Amino acid sequence: MGEHVLRIWQEGSRDFSTVPGLVWRSAEGECRTNPGPAPLIEDLDALPFPAYDLIDLPSYWRLWSMSIMPPPRRYVSMFTSRGCPYRCIYCHEIFGKRFRAQSPERIVDELEHYVRTYGIKEVEFFDDIFNLHGRRVIEFSELVQRRNLRVSISFPNALRADILTPEVADALVAAGTRESALALETGSPRIQELIQKRLNIPKFLEGVAMLTDRRVFTWGFLMFGFPTETEADMQMTVDVVRKSKLHVVYPWVVTPYPKTKLFDVATRLKPEKMAGLNYAGHDYVVYPCVNLSEVSDKMLKSYLFKSFPVLFANPLRALRIVRDFPRPWSVWRYWEGVLITLTSKKAVQLGQAPSETDGPVINTEQILKC
Ligand code: SF4
Repeated sequence: MGEHVLRIWQEGSRDFSTVPGLVWRSAEGECRTNPGPAPLIEDLDALPFPAYDLIDLPSYWRLWSMSIMPPPRRYVSMFTSRGCPYRCIYCHEIFGKRFRAQSPERIVDELEHYVRTYGIKEVEFFDDIFNLHGRRVIEFSELVQRRNLRVSISFPNALRADILTPEVADALVAAGTRESALALETGSPRIQELIQKRLNIPKFLEGVAMLTDRRVFTWGFLMFGFPTETEADMQMTVDVVRKSKLHVVYPWVVTPYPKTKLFDVATRLKPEKMAGLNYAGHDYVVYPCVNLSEVSDKMLKSYLFKSFPVLFANPLRALRIVRDFPRPWSVWRYWEGVLITLTSKKAVQLGQAPSETDGPVINTEQILKC
């Protein structure tokens, strides 16, 4: 599809109406969606390496990425698969539900290219689900070791904890994994069912332990504010955090994006809250756009921050945080960011529109039309 779009562009036309599934803006400024599904890329190994030579990498290295590690970091990002077979209702479906993946050889060729060409020391994987096939992870790890690629690996997004096995955890660590996000989202089995994430919570706890016992720094993603969520459900999330070996957590407020099943569920269950929902400049902590849960805004805010004291209450966890942070001398910069967020006067302004200086304004009308 990309080639088709570029060919049209090179030929000087701005009419992309023949590209199936493409969302584009016409010369008149109108947002259009072409009919038909965009064709899926089947052979991901055939894709060329991203043209990192066209961008100013050192400028990127000075910015915060999704990793927990503060800049500057000599790193690149990689995306080695498309699609995820799980059906979480808040998630995108950009790549379809069928999992397609690059071979371990293709991944390691690309990684080696970045090491030799740019001297990178770190890599971040952003797949939807890097570890769906354990064999692929193990073969990737063996190749990284055989080629002696000494890079620090981060997964700010890509691992599902309840399908981890000890063999895969060993392989990840042997390849150089130092840090990983692991999504719990909710500790309530009822809400897990509602959102169709269907995370196996006992296995999630085992998966977290597999990585932390191997000294991988883990941070948990939490979501508060799902439709029908009660205080008891929220407390279950905090209880799972307490039981877990997660080093730290990132709690967010649920946002129902257009074109997701969550958006439809929320519109059915909470039509009054969804009417005129304003996404302008929103984020998930300081300016969440809506509270869809059964609890008051005040209580939702309190649960956003309840898991932090739970973390601090365990002295062993505090020791592990200092011991396992990939660059121990920079751990203070992570806590500095958390404290600034927590103590910010602006922290958690539910449903309030930020000022123009707070960020780009998203045109919700346009999103809904596309
Ligand atoms: S497991 Fe992750 S990527 Fe897959 S559907 Fe759920 S949220 Fe999306």
